[in-house]
Amino acid sequence: MSKPLKSLAAGLAHLRDAHLKPGDAIPLPLTMASVFHSPGDASGFHQYGRFSNPTWTAVEEMLGYLEDAPCIGFPSGMAAISALLFSLAKSGDRILLSSDGYPTTRLVAERLAAFGVHFDTRPTASFLDGGFEGYRLVYAETPANPGLDICDIAAVSEAVHAGGGIFIVDNTTMTPFGQRPLEHGADVVVAADTKAPNGHSDVLFGHVASRNAEIIAAVQEWRQTCGVIPSPFDAWMVHRGLETLEIRFERMCDTAEFIAPRLKAHKAVRSLRYPGLADDPSHNLARAQMERFGFLISFVLDSAEKAEEFIQGCPLVESATSFGGVHTAAERRTKRGDAVPPGFVRLSIGCEPAEELWQAIETSLDRLCA
Ligand SMILES: *Cc1c(COP(=O)(O)O)cnc(C)c1O
Repeated sequence: MSKPLKSLAAGLAHLRDAHLKPGDAIPLPLTMASVFHSPGDASGFHQYGRFSNPTWTAVEEMLGYLEDAPCIGFPSGMAAISALLFSLAKSGDRILLSSDGYPTTRLVAERLAAFGVHFDTRPTASFLDGGFEGYRLVYAETPANPGLDICDIAAVSEAVHAGGGIFIVDNTTMTPFGQRPLEHGADVVVAADTKAPNGHSDVLFGHVASRNAEIIAAVQEWRQTCGVIPSPFDAWMVHRGLETLEIRFERMCDTAEFIAPRLKAHKAVRSLRYPGLADDPSHNLARAQMERFGFLISFVLDSAEKAEEFIQGCPLVESATSFGGVHTAAERRTKRGDAVPPGFVRLSIGCEPAEELWQAIETSLDRLCA
């Protein structure tokens, strides 16, 4: 870890100070523009809205500061992931993906099959088994959602590099305040800032970060030529969200740590997973490579009906897909086709006060046992 997280948070709040001239607004101005005043030779300034925009640049500076690496913003997490895979993969390449991560990743890999790119999948919990020989790109989500299994980022990085490959980590579930994969040897981080970084469930955004200049140049080129650009307004919203990410994330992780053992002890709950619990299969690795244990908890209720009854019966839990927002939200994941039991629930802890949230959850679970 190069910078302690608290000083990272303090620095983040004042990142713009170095650019300020007397009379400038302290908050980030929103620049809605497709064209910019561009006299003479066109270099070194903003010219056209598909090439760059000062509001994106400000968000990329914040994300780049958190990742400690150059960063390119996209209009969604999937736009970032597909830009990365499409700009790096070549015909004949093999890609390895987590089998239990965000499923749309596989759709991207399936699209690439039309161009002669092959892919395989492997469970996150045993990601190291079988090695990485022959894979040009290796892509893991850790902790993988919704099952919350973890792989050893440093060990996978080393093994992937030994085989000449590039290791990509989807860090959406943790954010840079919870885990910094580049510090552990990963080559690229991708993330859906739609989730906790924006945090208010009102815009989609994504980014790619890497210390490898060739990868960043390829991804930047992809964005500019394919036109998958973020809206300046969405970037401005994400900038605003990032200003409170650390305080929200800390609160959400604290509350998840408070609630997970109570949930696990409840008689309606089976197979609870939370990397922060000492007996969780992910715990030791989580301690070694994560800064916090995150805000996602997964568990199984007796049936799909019970899962719906719990979610819809709890006034402090939103019935919604996605995670990382200020509102606690839960989803029965078979609704999205995940390979999990019918009563499997993914719970994303939000910013509500912990005691009140637990009481509401407990009351809704007690009702299932009545
Ligand atoms: C949500 C999510 C994505 C996709 O992000 P969008 O902004 O919805 O495109 C990718 N990876 C993970 C782990 C996610 O949770």
